[in-house]
Amino acid sequence: MANEAAPPAINDLSLAEKVPETKAVGQIVTPFDVSGGVDESGKLLPVDYEKLTREFGATPINAALLERFEKVTGHRPHRFMRRGIVFSHRDLAKILDRHEKGEPFFLYTGRGPSSDSMHVGHTVPFEFTKWLQDVFDCPLVIMMTDDEKYMHSQKIDIEDSKRYTKANAKDIIAVGFDMKKTFIFSDFEFIGGAFYENMCRMAKRITINQVKGTFGFNDSNNIGEFHFCATQSASAFATSFPHIFGTDTKKVASIPCLIPCAIDQDPYFRQCREHAEKMKFKKPSLIHSIFLPALQGPGSKMSASIDSSAIFMSDTPNKIKNKINKHAFSGGQDTAEKQRELGGNSKVDVPFQYLTFFLEDDEALEKIRSEYESGQMMTGEIKQKCIAQLQEYVQGFQDRRAQVTDEIMAEYMRPRPLEWKGNPSPIVV
Ligand code: ATP
Repeated sequence: MANEAAPPAINDLSLAEKVPETKAVGQIVTPFDVSGGVDESGKLLPVDYEKLTREFGATPINAALLERFEKVTGHRPHRFMRRGIVFSHRDLAKILDRHEKGEPFFLYTGRGPSSDSMHVGHTVPFEFTKWLQDVFDCPLVIMMTDDEKYMHSQKIDIEDSKRYTKANAKDIIAVGFDMKKTFIFSDFEFIGGAFYENMCRMAKRITINQVKGTFGFNDSNNIGEFHFCATQSASAFATSFPHIFGTDTKKVASIPCLIPCAIDQDPYFRQCREHAEKMKFKKPSLIHSIFLPALQGPGSKMSASIDSSAIFMSDTPNKIKNKINKHAFSGGQDTAEKQRELGGNSKVDVPFQYLTFFLEDDEALEKIRSEYESGQMMTGEIKQKCIAQLQEYVQGFQDRRAQVTDEIMAEYMRPRPLEWKGNPSPIVV
């Protein structure tokens, strides 16, 4: 039976005008999908990070904050900060205040193990987190969300996600985290006790409506996916880790965390921040990065779930060369003549984007940009530079990864006290 409350459908006989058809699709950024959208002509658009920051209600990182960061820490900001790759935050100033006063805080980041090897995009938040750990000399927890990967994916079963967790934990260790200050944990193995209590405190406050609104879930998503946002939030509270921070709940509840992640993870922590103070915990602070684009170009994110989009940390030098030469989206012109005349567009050129992420030397990067844009540098040459840079980066990683034994991994993943300079009350368990 027709729904009497519904307006009549608009058809060719209607007086109401039909909305003209358009190919335009707005950008989408969630923990599950990233796309800059499509314009009226069907052209892919880059992710508009300024718009995203406004919509998410985060704060752009500006020159004054970078200056304060340098003053407080005594360290020149990381190249990701200098180049706008780490571009927005929530309450970073509060963490700087605490660091200045010598008050404790911790770092929290994570990985959803979805493949045997991580890709170069995943190393962006991890490399940055390692640098922050060195700069702040503070404890770090790394959550392997093997439960979420199982619940969200049709292809991954529990055994797969447990295997990926082990392989990815070794990848993460190879980034160079200090074992004394780092605890890596698998949700399947670690959740229980104080951590589970905090999950339940959070789950009790989050409604189905909030999750639907925040993540775009509908009635077809499974209840595990709905529940997972309580899991991801629980790691933001120091009381979830009594083996690190002790059991003086009142004191420990006042220790906040700083979460470095790509901006797609922000929706989880908006939920977390909304409820934290009602639970008598500190709101987590965040520091967001942009996405390393897929080989196919801007408006995308390199993803382990899409094999052809990614350069994996296990790729051989030859594979890296072939992937860049064959798949990397070029902002250069079709012919050498045109390239010399018009130059390339570094804003959309994937080899240039990758160099911006991984080449440390600011002057060398600027030289490449100006030569490429003025037409002095050819497309083949910039690809060559990108290949060499990534081969070196991946080789360095693989050399360190080869040293990570099962015993070393087990030690990083063992619940144990951590040691750091500012630890107010070293814990013995
Ligand atoms: P996949 O399912 O493709 O493995 P993912 O996006 O689910 O990838 P996660 O393991 O959930 O990856 O993410 C781990 C961390 O890496 C998060 O902080 C996430 O935002 C970040 N990240 C993932 N992909 C990229 C990328 N291409 N560039 C920068 N950061 C990324």
